[in-house]
Amino acid sequence: MYRIGVDVGGTNIAIGVVDDSYSIIGKRSIKTSQVPEIGQMIEAIASGVKELISETGISESDVACVGVGVPGTAELDTGKVMYANNLGFEDEPFLPRLKEALGEPLCEKTYFDNDANAAAIGEYVTGGYTEKNFMMVTLGTGIGGGIIIDGKLIRGVNYAAAEFGHMSINIDDKGCNCGRRGCFETYASAAALVEQAVDSMEKDVDKKSLLWKNCGKVSDLDGEKFFEAVKEKDELALKVLSQYEIYLAEGLTNLINILQPEVLVLSGGITRAAEYYLDDVRSMVLEKVYSRSSKKNTRIEVAHGIKDAGDVGIIGAALLGE
Ligand SMILES: [Zn+2]
Repeated sequence: MYRIGVDVGGTNIAIGVVDDSYSIIGKRSIKTSQVPEIGQMIEAIASGVKELISETGISESDVACVGVGVPGTAELDTGKVMYANNLGFEDEPFLPRLKEALGEPLCEKTYFDNDANAAAIGEYVTGGYTEKNFMMVTLGTGIGGGIIIDGKLIRGVNYAAAEFGHMSINIDDKGCNCGRRGCFETYASAAALVEQAVDSMEKDVDKKSLLWKNCGKVSDLDGEKFFEAVKEKDELALKVLSQYEIYLAEGLTNLINILQPEVLVLSGGITRAAEYYLDDVRSMVLEKVYSRSSKKNTRIEVAHGIKDAGDVGIIGAALLGE
């Protein structure tokens, strides 16, 4: 059997056919900006799914499920997307409309969920975790994630649980787009790390740092160039990274203090450079965590289930019918 995964992102909508070994055997992409209205998006997803099925030479009856991950609050009992700020959707009956557009037999096996929940399920299943209590923290433009307790995804009363990025770690500091101050993601997301490096570059008036040599101008800095400077042991880059580790450890410690999962998995492109910060973060968390004297403590690992980070959204969504 095959599964279809649809990852609805702010830039692209990626659709993939996933086989039993969790490999993507066919893929296509739609620019989100070309389908700004929900009706257009639903039609584009439905026809994209059907075309991809025929392109890959399978039939609709070979499809075990169609799963859709959306960047917002997916209300499972009504099928509505309650709020998706990147798409501009509010209170939209997304799932019923998609089922209608897909028709029989696909409509009966179509599911949706928040994209971070889908990614957490994807990592949990493909990573072969045997632990019942698992948490995934995704470091990207913001910080999102998913919580699995006793083998079940925790969605909360309104399906908006696991918004780790909007846990404040400093109420006196800068504002966040959610309206609060000092949110974890304004300090510890991948985007926040780049922002912190840019601030330091601007203070480095002599432009001695490798960050300047690697970029030329601050707007060219990205995570990859930052870690190139870290690899070369650039003093400024290392200083920025040490401070970032403190922020990351602080937030992870909060999460562990609340849930004490057996394993906490970090994901996102920035984890490709985990060799430069993960050991430090692990030791800091162990020093800070309330359970520090316990014999058992949460293992902090990097996601390993899905090899290509670009495929996490599709494979996670494809597993929503599990
Ligand atoms: Zn916030």
